[in-house]
Amino acid sequence: MPKTRFQALVESRNREHINIDETGKRSDLFAKNVFNEDKMLQFLTGEAFEKVKSAIFQGTKIDRKIADQVAEGMKAWALSMGATHYTHWFQPLTGATAEKHDAFFDILPNGKAMEKFGGAQLVQQEPDASSFPSGGIRNTFEARGYTAWDPTSPAFVYKTTLCIPTIFVAYTGEALDNKAPLLRALQAVDQAATGVAQYFDKNVRKVHATLGWEQEYFLIDKALANSRLDLSVTGRTLVGSFSAKGQQLDDHYFGVIPARVLGFMSELEKECTKLGIPVKTRHNEVAPNQFELAPVFEEANLSVDHNLLLMDVMEEIADKYNFSVLFHEKPFAGINGSGKHNNWSLATDTGVNLLSPGTTPMKNLQFLTFFVNTIKAVDTYEELLRASIASASNDHRLGANEAPPPIISIFIGKQLSDVLDELEGVSKGKLSPQEKTELKLNVVGKIPEILLDNTDRNRTSPFAFTGNKFEMRGVGSKLNCAKPMTMLNTIMAKQLTDFKKEVDVLIDKKNLKKDEAVFNVLREYIKTSKRIRFEGDGYGIEWQEEARRRKLSFNKNTPEALQVITAKESIDLFKQMDVMNEVELKAHKEVELGAYIFHIQIEGRVLGEMVYNHIIPAAVKYQNMLLENISGLKEVYGAAHKKVAEGQLNILEQIGEHIVEIKRLTDEMADARKRANGMSVVDKKAQAYCNNVKPYFEKIREHSDALEKLIADEFWPFTKYREMLFSK
Ligand code: ADP
Ligand code: MG
Repeated sequence: MPKTRFQALVESRNREHINIDETGKRSDLFAKNVFNEDKMLQFLTGEAFEKVKSAIFQGTKIDRKIADQVAEGMKAWALSMGATHYTHWFQPLTGATAEKHDAFFDILPNGKAMEKFGGAQLVQQEPDASSFPSGGIRNTFEARGYTAWDPTSPAFVYKTTLCIPTIFVAYTGEALDNKAPLLRALQAVDQAATGVAQYFDKNVRKVHATLGWEQEYFLIDKALANSRLDLSVTGRTLVGSFSAKGQQLDDHYFGVIPARVLGFMSELEKECTKLGIPVKTRHNEVAPNQFELAPVFEEANLSVDHNLLLMDVMEEIADKYNFSVLFHEKPFAGINGSGKHNNWSLATDTGVNLLSPGTTPMKNLQFLTFFVNTIKAVDTYEELLRASIASASNDHRLGANEAPPPIISIFIGKQLSDVLDELEGVSKGKLSPQEKTELKLNVVGKIPEILLDNTDRNRTSPFAFTGNKFEMRGVGSKLNCAKPMTMLNTIMAKQLTDFKKEVDVLIDKKNLKKDEAVFNVLREYIKTSKRIRFEGDGYGIEWQEEARRRKLSFNKNTPEALQVITAKESIDLFKQMDVMNEVELKAHKEVELGAYIFHIQIEGRVLGEMVYNHIIPAAVKYQNMLLENISGLKEVYGAAHKKVAEGQLNILEQIGEHIVEIKRLTDEMADARKRANGMSVVDKKAQAYCNNVKPYFEKIREHSDALEKLIADEFWPFTKYREMLFSK
């Protein structure tokens, strides 16, 4: 057996048992490492405390004097926690997080050493960031971008570093990251939703978006994962014959969590708890060695930060338990991929979930207003929502093995479908007293507080209403949630702004009562957004055809899906909502396309290396073994050897054929890559990679997988699916 595979197997089998310490109350640990209100009260002056709070809740600016005070308090707290360094923690467009650590330690003019950290360092930092992607916003010769403190997400200490959540922007103001657009989208939806919520309750001052993500991931023994070139470089297996045992038996889901995994989870959860990430559930997922972790939902910006932080922490702790954690959306063909459902809602500062049905007709009208507006927003901007979850890795998952398809549709369940059908029949203009009563009693009044049939989940729906929130299911496990959240909140802001205008016109110009006006506008929305509602199974070809008839977009791959971002309507929308300008949209799209190209390019190269340096040599080795055997038989049997060696000869022939084909395809793929690399327009290049390079991956894989089945186990160079997926 090839050395790496063999050693990896031995190593993985000899893992020491780890004792799990599940003692201690989680609540005692909660937010221990976070500079939250409690810590601020303790370490800040009263004035600084008030200013930070109003920056968080009202978005007011913090002046330099206050920043100095906050920095002083933050430093004192961080030092008391054992921190030696601080960093501005930000989200460059690459999708991961970035940080540049500086020591608190400094030498004063008198030669003495001390720990220094002032308002200037808190508020702004200039990372040497010329190598982060900027889509041409920031010329590299200038390399001028800076990070700026986001007081709405609290600073925290991780290991020995004080981490300060920041946005990353160019000196000219454009966003170079995923957080700045998110914050603008959240502000836009706050403004728009507050206006609408005030129809129902004058006391509402602020609306915030909530997000509860569910992170899926695989854990594979570190030695086994590292033994595979494809997995360690690209995050997924490019070849690999299906394991005899897959997920057919469905015995992994909610099964017993293996001890080593439990150790990992337990330590991870403790670490998360200290960092203020409210993790709550953990369980096995459908695929072997696949798991899920979900927290209690939070305000969207904080929740996004927490997800990114979680992914960092997971990698560290996995390493300690000798696991590789896989965030790729489709690390293994033929079994489920990993997603990150984004549960989303809107909540008021008065404590009301706007997507939760209430106990009175008025509360239910409020619920219906936000519910129908969400449907309308998704209907109008379905293609943008699809674009927000596009990535090279997610392309493999969408539409396969229980994952939602790349066609956006909404599932609302039977009860609510019936309610919408009723509302569609509401009269135009003024309503008669009877109709009003009828609506209150029998339609709006009948919405139960708990929607029973929404527990009956349609797993393949990309956007499902689940009782008191919508659940966006197409989001990939690797993706920064800021992307879909920016999109969803932006389209919602636009939709609610339009809605309010329409309602106000009916009230002011047509003399309608508020509830009449609301009913009138909702009725039209229900009528015009019907095509987006789909209760069926979004899996098969029938739905694809039906979706085409409904004129829903069906963008199968990332280069196609991203086009809409720079369409005129999108540019207008983002500009009107003050979320991104044209330069930013173009730049962000270019970065995404660049990442796509890079991704496919690397996969192509790795695959080429695997074929030439591992697969063909292994096949040849086995061929030689067969040849030796056949010539031995010939010596003994003479001409009669053909009969005894029939099986060997046949295998020999098959191997020969596969070698010819796999080599030809790999060479053709390399040529296709060369041609793509020669293209200068990024859109064209991405399309070339998608349409001319990527299709070779599957074809090459077929031959590799066939060879894997033919060749003696001892010669096969790559750790097999069965070995990776069923090790504990
Ligand atoms: P599952 O979808 O796995 O069955 P649940 O429906 O119980 O799980 O909840 C999934 C996620 O939804 C959790 O992370 C939870 O925090 C989140 N969630 C619940 N209510 C809201 C809300 N109002 N806004 C955003 N997320 C929410
Ligand atoms: Mg879910």
